Amino acid sequence: MAANPIKVLTDYFDKVIIEHGSAVIQEKHIALLKEQLGLVEREKINLEKKIEELETVNHKLKKEKDELVTRIESYEKYHRGILHLHQEFGVLWDEELNMYCINCQKRLKYSSRDPSVFHCSDPNCDNKHTLRDKQGTKITEQQAMDLLKARKK
Ligand SMILES: [Zn+2]
Repeated sequence: MAANPIKVLTDYFDKVIIEHGSAVIQEKHIALLKEQLGLVEREKINLEKKIEELETVNHKLKKEKDELVTRIESYEKYHRGILHLHQEFGVLWDEELNMYCINCQKRLKYSSRDPSVFHCSDPNCDNKHTLRDKQGTKITEQQAMDLLKARKK
């Protein structure tokens, strides 16, 4: 640990005054210097406290910033998914290759009868979609996804 600069200065002034000062003014000088150094010492403690407080505030703000960035990112991801729907093979697709209803943009669910047929998950819409390629041939979800993935490359 470094020597306390105030202690070093006090010792130094004591020494200088003892060596060079007259006996009469020596006491007054020492008292005055000690008073001044006491003020400086108190100011130093105040500043250290202030720095500690500011570091705490800074830490808290950084944490809040990180939380907000995370929230914005998940919000943007959610909206990208919704806004970037594109139509292909008779349905809408998001970037993660989930299928959506063309009529109401809700998610599609599987039909138990035909792997190429999908129903809207909204009972009020209840649209039926059949996956077909450009030639009009029925295709499965997996075939459609493979075609979309191949096109992305
Ligand atoms: Zn629908």
